[in-house]
Amino acid sequence: MEIQHHVSLKHYNTFGLDITASELATIEHENDISILSEVPDFSTQSLLVLGGGSNVLFSGDYAGLVLKNNILGKEVLKQNEEFVWVRLGAGENWHQVVLWSIENGWGGIENLSLIPGTVGAAPMQNIGAYGVELSSVFEYLEAFELKTGKIAQFNTTDCDFGYRYSVFKGPLKQQFIITRVILKLSKHPTFNTSYGAVAQTLEEMGVEQLTIKDISSAVIKIRQSKLPDPAVIGNAGSFFKNPIVANETLNNLKTEYTNIPSYAFDNSYSKIPAGWLIEQCQWKGYRKGSIGVHAKQALVLVNYGGAKGRELVDLSKQIQASVQSRFGIELIPEVNIV
Ligand SMILES: Cc1cc2nc3c(=O)[nH]c(=O)nc-3n(C[C@H](O)[C@H](O)[C@H](O)COP(=O)(O)OP(=O)(O)OC[C@H]3O[C@@H](n4cnc5c(N)ncnc54)[C@H](O)[C@@H]3O)c2cc1C
Repeated sequence: MEIQHHVSLKHYNTFGLDITASELATIEHENDISILSEVPDFSTQSLLVLGGGSNVLFSGDYAGLVLKNNILGKEVLKQNEEFVWVRLGAGENWHQVVLWSIENGWGGIENLSLIPGTVGAAPMQNIGAYGVELSSVFEYLEAFELKTGKIAQFNTTDCDFGYRYSVFKGPLKQQFIITRVILKLSKHPTFNTSYGAVAQTLEEMGVEQLTIKDISSAVIKIRQSKLPDPAVIGNAGSFFKNPIVANETLNNLKTEYTNIPSYAFDNSYSKIPAGWLIEQCQWKGYRKGSIGVHAKQALVLVNYGGAKGRELVDLSKQIQASVQSRFGIELIPEVNIV
């Protein structure tokens, strides 16, 4: 395995930021990590695992070792009448895995079609879209512990999944490299069309006998019409999480903002779309030089070409400040700022 020095990461992050990493190595197997971890200064240097780079914002050059995860493999571990358990290499492309699962008639992840990035990053923030989260099909994962050099297993409880959250974004941040993910997919899928736009798109498509492929096609259609393609405009999808507020706070806000959209999170809390809050603060379509807020989707910060990471970080802080000052709500970044 080769370690490259002073490497541009322009093509390794979907913001397309032309930053440099001091060192870059590609890992293709668990053994590569073991070998690397025996290099004398391995434990003392900064280390960043990178999948597709679709959920990171580099604020500047990276003074450390970047490990590009390219651990591949798709295998059926076991199956019964109802379910199939698949073990996936963390470097597999997520959307290709979704298509593979659909081809085999296994349901559960079709609503998560077209999410960029790798399988290994999916549990990191418990990816979610159109009414489904990874946790609903997750069985366990295997991860290399940097401190001990051992592979550990984490089940759903260990991962402590939440809304765009797992233990790997919290107390175990930077301590494990996820190497394999095991999912439990259904041979007799039930369909989730609870998200309004999915049901509406399926109707427009004239679908009569619903299949998981139809759901995937509908989701792809919606995503392509709503979200900017990183291959065309640099971005990392939703920049902020949708804030979760106490119902009492929401009711207070409703007295002033009667049209504020919200969704029940549980009995006591509601989610407010961050995009709406940002739009109310007049950021939608904002542009300054190479950076901006997407004209169709206020939740997406963009690099029109040649932006610096620091400029995007500053823009995100200005947006946070204006939402805080107008609504008293703190926006928390979903994107990992490095
Ligand atoms: C256009 C667009 C749309 C998006 N839509 C959605 C969406 O609908 N729902 C959603 O949830 N997300 C969405 N995202 C965000 C992103 O695609 C997901 O978070 C995805 O899982 C990130 O995968 P990645 O391989 O690119 O991760 P990276 O960006 O490479 O890494 C993300 C974080 O995970 C860590 N990491 C990555 N791999 C590993 C590993 N193997 N072990 C340990 N740590 C690791 C990294 O260090 C980093 O902190 C979108 C992004 C874009 C650009």
